Amino acid sequence: MRWDHLAENPAAARGAALFDADAVTTRTFDTPEFRGITFHEVRGRSIVNRVPGASRMPFEWTVNPYRGCTHACVYCFARKTHSYLDLDTGLGFDTQIVVKVNAPELLRAHLGSPRWHGEHIAMGTNVDCYQRAEGRYRLMPGIIAALRDHANPFSILTKGTLILRDLDLLKQAAEVTDVGISVSVGFTDQELWRTVEPGTPAPERRLDVVRTLGEHGIGCGVLMAPVIPFLSDHPAQLRATVRAIAASGATSVTPLVLHLRPGAREWFMAWLERRHPYLVRRYERLYADGAYAPKWYQRRITGQVHELAQEYGIGPTRPGMPRRIRRPEPEPVAAEPTVTGPTQLSLL
Ligand code: SF4
Repeated sequence: MRWDHLAENPAAARGAALFDADAVTTRTFDTPEFRGITFHEVRGRSIVNRVPGASRMPFEWTVNPYRGCTHACVYCFARKTHSYLDLDTGLGFDTQIVVKVNAPELLRAHLGSPRWHGEHIAMGTNVDCYQRAEGRYRLMPGIIAALRDHANPFSILTKGTLILRDLDLLKQAAEVTDVGISVSVGFTDQELWRTVEPGTPAPERRLDVVRTLGEHGIGCGVLMAPVIPFLSDHPAQLRATVRAIAASGATSVTPLVLHLRPGAREWFMAWLERRHPYLVRRYERLYADGAYAPKWYQRRITGQVHELAQEYGIGPTRPGMPRRIRRPEPEPVAAEPTVTGPTQLSLL
């Protein structure tokens, strides 16, 4: 293990300002799972972020204890948020991980504030809170315990099997409040998984999570994201994926077609050029109007998935998805300063 306290050099001061923290400590761990990864530990001043009003997301408050994600999905559009920290959005996003080490205590204090009215909190909306780093930093147990103790509704979206470590806490929380868990599985193609989501648990391991949660009475939805044009959208691939999702006992399946925002777009297109150069022109045409595939394409995929879901006995409803819980006339709470730009759903 190597320790560097950056407070003694100018970069640290710059980092501290960027991370909304008093000091930044970097660490590397000389173990195979963390080789090549640098962790920037910060003690943040806030942890609950308000989603900007213009957001298309179905939630208003989020908690993100990490920035950057070792799951390293090529298409991840949270990549852009790394640029707000003056960090690289490509390899830097995969290997420079910011850890808010005091996230649990910040959250507990926030939930206990008289200004907080128990609104729904969504997690895993920017980067994965159950990425590998969580195995070492163990922030989520404290976070879930705080939510449980305040009976505060919450949801988690993840690709990480590590969530099962916290099964007992999740069950305790589900006894006192609304808990929504969703796992993201866009496809089951092994070759595609290894190349486009290289740091994630295999799709079948993620579906094991869905199965296990269900066996313990916690219904779990699947966000079928992303469906990747020309690589995972063949009818046979869609069928195999929905069939596997149904077999896992998922309460719902929600398809989402790949979108390519700045930050993710360049990284994804460079990968496409290397791995599937014959598709580059087709992608340029499909995404010619911006970050989203055309409506007709999105409708076609959604229709196909919903038909398959019906055939395999799971509806397109979204009980496991993050959702906003409305309370009667809450007093407005001042937005906490956010560390980065808008919170978003990173195609987890
Ligand atoms: S898509 Fe999700 S799991 Fe993949 S790198 Fe981004 S935040 Fe991590």
